[in-house]
Amino acid sequence: MGILAGKKGLILGIANDKSIAWGVTQACKREGAELGFNYLGEMLEKRVRPLAESVDATFIEPLDVSDDTQMDDFFAKVEQQWGHLDFMVHSIAFANKDALRNRFSTTSREDFRLALDISAYSFIACAQRAAPLMKAGSSMVTMTYLGAERTVPGYNVMGVAKAALEASTRYLAQDLGPDGIRVNAISAGPIRTLAASAVGDFRKLMEKSARGSMLKRNVTQDEVGNTAAYLLSDMASGVSGEVHYVDAGFHIGVGDPGIE
Ligand code: NAD
Repeated sequence: MGILAGKKGLILGIANDKSIAWGVTQACKREGAELGFNYLGEMLEKRVRPLAESVDATFIEPLDVSDDTQMDDFFAKVEQQWGHLDFMVHSIAFANKDALRNRFSTTSREDFRLALDISAYSFIACAQRAAPLMKAGSSMVTMTYLGAERTVPGYNVMGVAKAALEASTRYLAQDLGPDGIRVNAISAGPIRTLAASAVGDFRKLMEKSARGSMLKRNVTQDEVGNTAAYLLSDMASGVSGEVHYVDAGFHIGVGDPGIE
């Protein structure tokens, strides 16, 4: 019996088999969960559907988190089909590439709005629709990055969005805690994914992160997945409002002074 046996959970944010959400999926499947997924548009449906079917998904529906009507429809279908929800994983972010490439001081109002809407507000929007389907003991997890609290070249407005996401995690934990719902964030080290390819010099960032980490390596999507499975399970029943690092210990150090 796995630690998620008998639980029904949504995993939002698979784009392909490199996605962090796919690492989470494999861990949750192994631990016995019944899983449901979203996809963003028909292009991604072609990739997401076969992956979801390979883990016997019982729920696969379209969802663009910037569209309130789609949000309402999506969660109404979850209720219709499953009746209740035991966990939800939010692994979604977006910013215009130019906003990450250009000087931070030139960030436009629209690029700021877009990054904050998709990468931070969407967690609140999902939580407000998921919570009514959850009973005490349920759990939500989102994905963040160290750029929320330290400057990281090329992360720019996404760092501001992650700061808002981490604060939102704490306020959701405060708000939903009396209902017995736990809300946590995982701060993952850099992993090569579609979203990561938008970040400045990602290759250099990965090198620096590996050398500056305590374990002298980068983390894998499976390691993030295993931590998510723990936070979603009753094993973490006393943990809420936390930003939990899965970064091989990078955040506790000062990096590697030997590398520029
Ligand atoms: P990814 O590209 O595989 O996943 C990002 C997902 O966001 C995609 O599935 C995309 O479809 C979805 N998305 C974007 N806009 C959306 C919208 N409007 N509606 C619905 N879905 C939308 O990349 P990833 O690296 O797996 O990213 C997952 C999460 O992990 C993100 O929050 C990212 O910031 C975070 N994260 C990534 C890293 C890393 O190095 N890869 C490190 C720390 C945190």
